[in-house]
Amino acid sequence: MALPLLLAVVSCGPALKPLPPMAPLPEPPSESPSPGYAAAPVGDRNTAGEPGREVAIESLRERGLLVPVKGIVASQIPDSYDAARDGARVHYALDILAKRGTPVLAADDGTILHIGTNALGGNVIWTADPSRRFAFYYAHLDRCAKGLHDGQQISRGDVIGYVGTSGNAPKDTPHLHFQVVRIVNGKRYSDGPPLNPLPFFTQAGITR
Ligand SMILES: [Zn+2]
Repeated sequence: MALPLLLAVVSCGPALKPLPPMAPLPEPPSESPSPGYAAAPVGDRNTAGEPGREVAIESLRERGLLVPVKGIVASQIPDSYDAARDGARVHYALDILAKRGTPVLAADDGTILHIGTNALGGNVIWTADPSRRFAFYYAHLDRCAKGLHDGQQISRGDVIGYVGTSGNAPKDTPHLHFQVVRIVNGKRYSDGPPLNPLPFFTQAGITR
């Protein structure tokens, strides 16, 4: 049996706080730090050659993603996906800078998997795409949109929250920490291999 992936789906800070599992899965939420994280962040390259990977990525390419912050276009987003964080780990996400309170938009249609808080990400939302091949992580939110709830169906461009600095984001640098991970074999989505969303943005951040 393969060891579970110890990918850190984290925000911009120094320690890992694992996120709860996808609602339908039986595993209880884990609140303890993952001991393997610092040693072995796992990138998507580790799953190259896995049969479902190319199919999934091709489907994402066909759908494309909407830039998840209102008023932002892809060319404004610096590629910080491979940036080092705290020496030991890799970001595996994009930071999209915007004024505090700027609407955060759903990057694709799909489902709200989880609305929660954690030490690094602050106020966070996990969503899944319609095929449930991918999970999207939106962190450092000032707040979530009113009435949003787990299991809710959402459409691309829906306002799901607002840019902020919750969690470990610098208080003078409001931004959205946006991560895309592939959901693999029904494992906890937060453990899925990440991929850089930047090449998949085909639409500017426009509210529906
Ligand atoms: Zn970040």
